[in-house]
Formats: sequence, C-alpha cells, structure tokens
Amino acid sequence: MSDVANRAEWRIAMDLTVAKAHARCTPQLEADGYCHYCDEQVAHGALFCNTDCRDDCQWEQEALRRAGR
Ligand SMILES: [Zn+2]
Repeated sequence: MSDVANRAEWRIAMDLTVAKAHARCTPQLEADGYCHYCDEQVAHGALFCNTDCRDDCQWEQEALRRAGR
C-alpha cells in the first residue's frame, strides 16, 4: 500500500524533474539551423536533429544540475 504511494510520489518527482530540465534546455536556445547537441544541420526553426539529441541535451542539463554546476 505505502509502496504504491511511494512509487506514485517518485513518478511525480520524476515528471517534475523532466519538465524542469525541458524548461531549462529549450527556451534559452536559439534555432540557428544546427542541432544544439551534435551540430548536424537541421530544418529551419528546429533546435535538434532528432528526439535523441533533444533528450540527451536534457539529460546533460540534468546531470550538470546534479553535479552542482
Ligand atoms: Zn543532433
């Protein structure tokens, strides 16, 4: 019973973490025609060439935050 509640709490915390990482990662970036993660050329207005790069960028931001930078 409490185990389920704990897991729900963990899930919410994870969602918040991901949302915050997303908010930190994307708005400050300007679309300049190149992927912000791997420097591939991307379609006009796109920040990343694919979702993997976007996710990796968010993961990196989160890792930096955890490392206290
Ligand atoms: Zn990329």
